[in-house]
Amino acid sequence: MKNKCVILGSGISGVGTAQLAIKEGFSVFVSDSGPIKSDIKDKFKNWGVSWEENVQKSSFLKNADWIMKSPGISNSSSSVLNANKLGIPILSEIEFASRFTNAKIIGITGSNGKTTTTELTYHILKNSGLNVGIAGNIGKSFAQQVAENSFEIYVLELSSFQLEDIIDFAPDVAVITNITPDHLDRYNNNFNDYIKSKLRITLNQTNDQFLLLNSNDPVLIKAVEQESIEAQKHLFGFNIEGGSTTSLKNNRIIIEYKNVNTMISANTFQLKGRHNLLNAMAASTIASIFRLNKKSIRESLSNFRGLPHRLEHVLKIQDVNYINDSKATNVNATFYALETLNTKGIWIAGGVDKGNNYEQLLPLVREKIKAIICLGKNNQRLIEVFYEVTNIMVETQSIEEAVKIAHNLSKKKETVLLSPACASFDLFESYEDRGNQFKNAVRNL
Ligand code: ADP
Repeated sequence: MKNKCVILGSGISGVGTAQLAIKEGFSVFVSDSGPIKSDIKDKFKNWGVSWEENVQKSSFLKNADWIMKSPGISNSSSSVLNANKLGIPILSEIEFASRFTNAKIIGITGSNGKTTTTELTYHILKNSGLNVGIAGNIGKSFAQQVAENSFEIYVLELSSFQLEDIIDFAPDVAVITNITPDHLDRYNNNFNDYIKSKLRITLNQTNDQFLLLNSNDPVLIKAVEQESIEAQKHLFGFNIEGGSTTSLKNNRIIIEYKNVNTMISANTFQLKGRHNLLNAMAASTIASIFRLNKKSIRESLSNFRGLPHRLEHVLKIQDVNYINDSKATNVNATFYALETLNTKGIWIAGGVDKGNNYEQLLPLVREKIKAIICLGKNNQRLIEVFYEVTNIMVETQSIEEAVKIAHNLSKKKETVLLSPACASFDLFESYEDRGNQFKNAVRNL
C-alpha cells in the first residue's frame, strides 16, 4: 500500500485506523466534518497525526494515496463524492486492519442479533482458553486491537456500513443472522441494496471458509440462492436437518457437520426467546468449527448472562415483571420480544418509525397485549395499526409517565415490556439512554 492516507472521521474507527496506520509507517491525515474531541487531538499529537476539523470537503484529499472512510459517513458526503471524482481508492477500517493480522477472523452481520451472537461467540471461545479478541460494531476498533494486541482469533461484529468499502476482506467464518428492513434511509429506501451490503461479508470468501446462514429467514435464503458463493454454506435454524446444518430438537442444539453429529444441551441457556436460541445455534456452530468440545460449549452457554437493553429483566414489582428491550429498534426484534411473553402484557412502544411494517405484529398483540403505551413524538402509525386489537392505548412523551401508567394498569403475573420497534432519537439520546431512563423509572415506582 502506498504511503499517504487520509482518514475521514475521528470516531472509534478513525482513531483506531490512525493508530495502526502510524504504527505501520504510513503518513496520516485525519479530516472531520465536525469538531474533534480534545483527548483525541492529544492522541493525534502524540502519534504524529495531522488533522483538520469542521471541514465538509477536504482539500487534503488530492494528496492522498488512499482514503479510509468511517462507517458513519454517507457515500453522498462532499468528501466522499470528491474522492470518487479524484479516483482515490476508498477502503474501510475493517479492510485496512485485516491486512495487518494473520488471525483467524469470525465476522458476524445481520439486521438483529449481531451483538448478542458476537458476545456469545467471544464468551465461548475465550472461556475455552483461546487467544481471542472482540471488535467492530460493538464499539471497539478492530484496527486499534490489531495495533495493540496479538490475538490469534477475532470475533468481529460487522454492520452493513462497515462492509461497504471492503476490497479483499474475507472472514474465515461469516455469519448472517437475518435480514429485515432497517437503516433503509442509508440505502435510498432500496431493500435490495441493503441486502447486497450484508452479503458483501461473503464476497471474497473461498471454499475453505464458512458462511453460516439463518435458514428460517426466507429473505436471506432467497438472496443467497441468487449469488454464486464460494464459501461452505452451513444453515442454522428450527426444523432443518441433514447436510451441513445446526438445528434444535428437544432443547438440544444439534450440529451436523462433515458427518459428525454433535449434540449440546441448551437447557441451561438463560436467554429467553427463539431468537436467542438462533443466536446460540450460530455461536455453538462457530465453536464447533474451532473444534471446541461440547462440554465447554455447554458450560459457556449456561453462564452467559445476556446484555443490557436486550430483553433485560429489570424488576418484579407486586408480581409484575418489567422488561427492558430498548435495543429493539425495529419490528423484527419486537416480534421476538412479544413472542417471549407468556403472560398478558402492557407494551410500551414507539419512537422514530423508519417506515415500519407493524402488521406482522398484529396476531401477537391481539393475543398477548392488553394495553399499549405509545412513547413517541408522533404515534399516528401505531394508533392506526393497533387501535382495533387493543382496548387501551395511551400516548405520552415521558418515560416516567409511561412506567406509572403501565404500573397502574398492570395486574399480578402480568408483564410490562419496553420494546419500542423504533429508534429513540425523538425523545432520547440513544437506545441506551432510553433503556436506562426506563430502568430508573421502574426502580422509582
Ligand atoms: P444488533 O447488534 O444486530 O442490533 P442485538 O443483539 O443488539 O443485535 O439485539 C438487538 C435487538 O434484537 C434486541 O431487542 C434483541 O432482543 C433482538 N434480537 C437479538 N437476536 C435476534 C435475532 N436473532 N433475531 C431477531 N431479533 C433479535
